[in-house]
Amino acid sequence: MSQNNSILGLSDLVVDRVERDQDIHVWAGPEGRPSCLYCGEGPVRIKATCHRTVKHTRQGNQLMVLHLRVPKYHCQRCNRYFRHRFTGIRPRLRATEGYRLEVFEAHDGGVSQSKLSLTHRIGSATVERWYQHHVRQRVLELSGRSCPRVLGIDEHFFSRKRGYATTLVDLKNHKVFDVVLGRSELSLRAYLSHLEGRDQVQVVVMDLSDTYRQIVQRYFPNAKIVADRFHVIRLVNHHFLKLWQQQDPVGRKDRGLLSLMRRHEWKLAPEQRANLARYFADFPILRALYTAKQQLARLLLIKNIRAKHAKHYLPKLLALLRQFAESPAKSLAKTLTSWIEPIVRMWRFSKSNGITEGFHTKMEMISRRAFGFRNFENYRLRVLAHCGWNGIINRV
Ligand SMILES: [Zn+2]
Repeated sequence: MSQNNSILGLSDLVVDRVERDQDIHVWAGPEGRPSCLYCGEGPVRIKATCHRTVKHTRQGNQLMVLHLRVPKYHCQRCNRYFRHRFTGIRPRLRATEGYRLEVFEAHDGGVSQSKLSLTHRIGSATVERWYQHHVRQRVLELSGRSCPRVLGIDEHFFSRKRGYATTLVDLKNHKVFDVVLGRSELSLRAYLSHLEGRDQVQVVVMDLSDTYRQIVQRYFPNAKIVADRFHVIRLVNHHFLKLWQQQDPVGRKDRGLLSLMRRHEWKLAPEQRANLARYFADFPILRALYTAKQQLARLLLIKNIRAKHAKHYLPKLLALLRQFAESPAKSLAKTLTSWIEPIVRMWRFSKSNGITEGFHTKMEMISRRAFGFRNFENYRLRVLAHCGWNGIINRV
């Protein structure tokens, strides 16, 4: 590639001349003769030459227009004809792949169709067509990949009419694996029973939902369920706030107190701690609950430890749960006890559905930008194109 054409980003081109007016016009032709397209060998001769004009990337605010010499070859060995193929320019299209990509990325980043049709001199329908084409191509590249080894499962709201959808996330690679409409076993059955490589899944991270637990046990035979730290702590906090409401409905409404109660004890300043202590003086039961809740939160936040250390923490957790079982927090103790294995497994991992929650925020944005989706399949395509791959397109 000579210096002249390396700036074009297209290989195998020789630039003849460049002219600038309102646009940048580049006249170019192929660098050499290829071997035959059909038999792969054979001396080819140029039978005729035609011309082709394609739009290429913008430089600053100027549009680059390529005027290409396109030879038509004749293979003397197999006696067939073909036109020169340029890498990065597909046959019959009037723009290079680079140009189409530029439009896709700009539109994806939020530039409107009408603005793009002004800057790139294409119709707004073309913007839409190119955009859809890229989205479909991305999803096609994703299809056929096998199940992730570490899977996160969570539900999210899709629309008022169609209800909830289930998100499957590849937690190791930080990508959405798929979204499926529905959150019950019945609505996921068809999808899951056809899912390839289900037995490769080793770990499933999920909230404390019985439906998802049953689904995982049935469809992912080799997977171990790990509780999701975020959801477990949220559950504990939720129960605690309810108990507080029972103990002292007036104090529960105090926003300052609420903010103190919600925080981790070890993050409080000395005077904040004193404030809490003063409040607790009148509510001994609440104080006991608060202390136990803080101990529980400390235990739940443990991560990335070895099995032998986990064994050391387990008796502490069990003792704490027994203590809860004899307090007003009976129902919390019951739930946590029934999930004790997934919760203990949580200590060995650092992965949580925090990633999934992040994707849900992103999906909400996608949905808003499209003013909501009626068709779930369109929504799924969009989600996979945005969250299913790393967003970097390898240039052709
Ligand atoms: Zn040939």
